[in-house]
Amino acid sequence: MKEIRMVDLQTQYQKIKQEINEEIQKVLDSSAFINGPAVQKFQADLEAYLQVKHVIPCGNGTDALQVSLMALGLQRGDEVITSTFTFIASAEIIALLGLTPVLVDVRPDTFNMDVEAVRKAITPKTKAIIPVHLFGQCAHMEEILKIAKEHHLFVVEDACQAIGSHYRFSDGSSRMAGTMGDFGCTSFFPSKNLGGYGDGGAIFTNDDELARKARGIVNHGMFVRYYHEMVGVNSRLDSLQAAILDVKLKHLDDYVVARKRAAAYYDKAFSSCPELETPHTAPFSEHVYHQYTLRLKKGNRDKLIAYMNEQQIPVMIYYPVPLHEQKAYQDPRYRKGDFPVSEQLCSEVISLPMHTELDEEQLAYICDHLKKAVELCQ
Ligand SMILES: *Cc1c(COP(=O)(O)O)cnc(C)c1O
Repeated sequence: MKEIRMVDLQTQYQKIKQEINEEIQKVLDSSAFINGPAVQKFQADLEAYLQVKHVIPCGNGTDALQVSLMALGLQRGDEVITSTFTFIASAEIIALLGLTPVLVDVRPDTFNMDVEAVRKAITPKTKAIIPVHLFGQCAHMEEILKIAKEHHLFVVEDACQAIGSHYRFSDGSSRMAGTMGDFGCTSFFPSKNLGGYGDGGAIFTNDDELARKARGIVNHGMFVRYYHEMVGVNSRLDSLQAAILDVKLKHLDDYVVARKRAAAYYDKAFSSCPELETPHTAPFSEHVYHQYTLRLKKGNRDKLIAYMNEQQIPVMIYYPVPLHEQKAYQDPRYRKGDFPVSEQLCSEVISLPMHTELDEEQLAYICDHLKKAVELCQ
């Protein structure tokens, strides 16, 4: 059996090696390393794929979020709502810009932002909401957009884990993750669903003026060469990454199919295991399984993980600590117990190996051992 990894980028690369290497060679031959034709092409191809008016490539997903908030012109002290059960970047950039992160709890089924909690968290200072489409499934965007409209708030989607996921509105129309809010952000970190071979990210928007601002901000606030209209940053997607990503974009739909196949295998294997709760899929969102995350409803998780690791099966905890309990984000407004769902999730979740290259032999091995581990850890 092939070695089991959380993410198997080696095997995936072997299958597209020739295409990738040719495109890398073209960039090397052209020496157009920054903002070269490869970046322009990837941008246009991603705009077409997502059916969004503007894609602004940048250095990474965290920068994408930061630049979005900068382009919205938020001021010190403005409040931005996001969930407490997420990767740190979603709150980090709020704090970094001198804005106030306002945390809300998530739903126990989808792990996404609880819409009622968002309503309750709104104050006169609230300016924006950052819904995180966690693990590959969109938050309840229809409701979030409705709340934002009622209260004149901006919406910046953190779609770093959900690129390629379709969201269905109640009128039957469908949009892709990251293209529904004022801005959407994604990451091309290697392990993401559309991952490069280094850092990368992008901002999406359908608003011409916001696109112009974001494009200026990623380039030192420069709109006309050496004339700086606003304070910006230096955040670029380099041509090599763009060339690699453009090849991988063509495979993204197939990659989603492969992830769903692995998820379906897991779902079936654990359906008769009451100690494990398999991921729920909301009726309004496709799940593209950036992670396959179970809840261990009964048993000792540390013991279970130790057993799995002994069998050479990596498993991970995304995430062990909610944002409001992180040392850097201590805030007198929040204490342990304030966000019971997130806190419970942090103590129960287990993410299994999830990538495009899992074969049946590996899946069967993982499932058999996880079932044994569940028994042993009771
Ligand atoms: C990966 C990730 C980010 C940050 O992306 P980077 O490219 O690593 O900066 C932000 N938010 C979420 C939810 C992520 O998973």
